[in-house]
Amino acid sequence: MNNSKSHQQIGKEQDLFTFSDLVGSGLPLFTPKGATLRRILNSYIDGLLEKQGYQFVWIPHIARKDLYEKSGHLEKFFEDMFPAMKAKDREYILKPANCPHHIQIFARKPWSYRELPQRYAESTTQYRSEQSGELEGLARVLALTLDDSHVFARPDQIKEEFRRALEINKQMLSDFKLDHWIRLSAWDKKNKKKYLGDEKTWEEMQNLMEEILKELGINYKKVDGEAAFYGPKMDLIVTDSLGKEWQLSTIQVDFNLPQRFNLTYIDENGEKQKPIMLHRATFGSYERFLAMIIEHYQGAFPLWLSPIQVTLMPIADRHRKTAEKIYNELISANIRVELDDRAETLQSKIRDATLQKVNFMGIIGDKETEKGNIVSVRTRDGKDLGQLEISKFLLNLQEEIDKKI
Ligand SMILES: [Zn+2]
Repeated sequence: MNNSKSHQQIGKEQDLFTFSDLVGSGLPLFTPKGATLRRILNSYIDGLLEKQGYQFVWIPHIARKDLYEKSGHLEKFFEDMFPAMKAKDREYILKPANCPHHIQIFARKPWSYRELPQRYAESTTQYRSEQSGELEGLARVLALTLDDSHVFARPDQIKEEFRRALEINKQMLSDFKLDHWIRLSAWDKKNKKKYLGDEKTWEEMQNLMEEILKELGINYKKVDGEAAFYGPKMDLIVTDSLGKEWQLSTIQVDFNLPQRFNLTYIDENGEKQKPIMLHRATFGSYERFLAMIIEHYQGAFPLWLSPIQVTLMPIADRHRKTAEKIYNELISANIRVELDDRAETLQSKIRDATLQKVNFMGIIGDKETEKGNIVSVRTRDGKDLGQLEISKFLLNLQEEIDKKI
């Protein structure tokens, strides 16, 4: 464990992200490799959300100050927000949360009970002001991108929606091979000022969440004082391969925001009813999640996640043409491949790719050039897989990617 590296160290070694004094601390910049990791995570989570019936939406990053007055953020969350900015006589705020925007998407039209639930999903960035001393690599940043979703449901649907949200988390935990425990983050009764809404609503929300967790057979630990200001949360705490704990996903049941925004739907008797809101994120923030998986895998990503899956190495200049041909074949098969055609020795190319934790190295010399359809393959652990036909190599790669190993 002493040899383990922080995500900052690995991020630098593998050129995944960088910080600039001019941009500011707590504002990471993702390089092409780091941005590739983000894109992989994004399409992965979108795939899971789509399977559970979520629809994708898009919102801007600022809104009129009035939106956050109405949501209660200005009242209860002010210290963590960037101050309002004035432009052309109007006041805007950089969004500290996505919920109020998504609420306005729901509020665009009247709904019948038959049209619920409405499930809106989006990976989008929100902004949180922190003391500069509290910032830490990707683990604590000023701009956090959430794989955020909000479900607007009838009371009789909320259990099923909770189950779907848990299903997504379960799949993620299994794909990333993470241990976890679940915390029910309740409010702190002695500090009611921190929260929106009355005691009765809070008791109802918390009881409903406990009931759902029990019914779904989920073990949890209840901790007071960790709730969001508008509702209790179910937090997923994962343990990485080094035994470090990270708080990631949350699922929240919320009666307060629908109330404040006066959201309604029409029930089967033609009466107006209030929907219940479910806030859900699986990664939590992409930045924190990336920090966690970088440390969890110590930079040796499984093939499906790797920003560079294969490095091709022509031994000499005369092998370059063949290497380029193989490169194009792999690219067309959606393999993330790079061509190392520097004028370096093969040994130093292998050493560099090993340090970069590239999963496979494909070496192209005289024999490979003569045949044209084979490559000599090595793994990053130094295992020699011998000469493989390109079609066979592609098949092996695809199999490993599909299995997420
Ligand atoms: Zn939310």
